[in-house]
Amino acid sequence: MFCVNCQKEVDAQIVTGADVYGLLTFNKSEPFARCPHCGNYGEYAIDKEPPFSVIPNFELRKAYNHIDCHFQCLWMQKKMTKAEAEAKMAWLMYNGSHPYRTHEIRTRDEAVKAYRFAKQLYKEYISDATKNS
Ligand SMILES: [Zn+2]
Repeated sequence: MFCVNCQKEVDAQIVTGADVYGLLTFNKSEPFARCPHCGNYGEYAIDKEPPFSVIPNFELRKAYNHIDCHFQCLWMQKKMTKAEAEAKMAWLMYNGSHPYRTHEIRTRDEAVKAYRFAKQLYKEYISDATKNS
């Protein structure tokens, strides 16, 4: 996996949420990938999707949360499916040249861009009610 902090490919250790956050966390059995060199970590996989290829640093980890906070609402509130939301983001971010996944973002600039687009989609599909006022 690519460690953003080390800026190189590393042999990630696969650990659990309990290893990262302690036994009292809500996601204690979820898999996390940890860099053996610098100790940064990130979610390894979600459900049955293919594992992520990036270990984020502290800043990106926070950014992922900010992005997902808007982005996940799109399918959690049933405005579209997750696949549709990801396809829209892929167009906005990369002109559709490759798929979008929040947890594959490697740079701050990319994260800032994703946050702006996620917020834009959120406004467009979720806060419709405020538009007419
Ligand atoms: Zn590292």
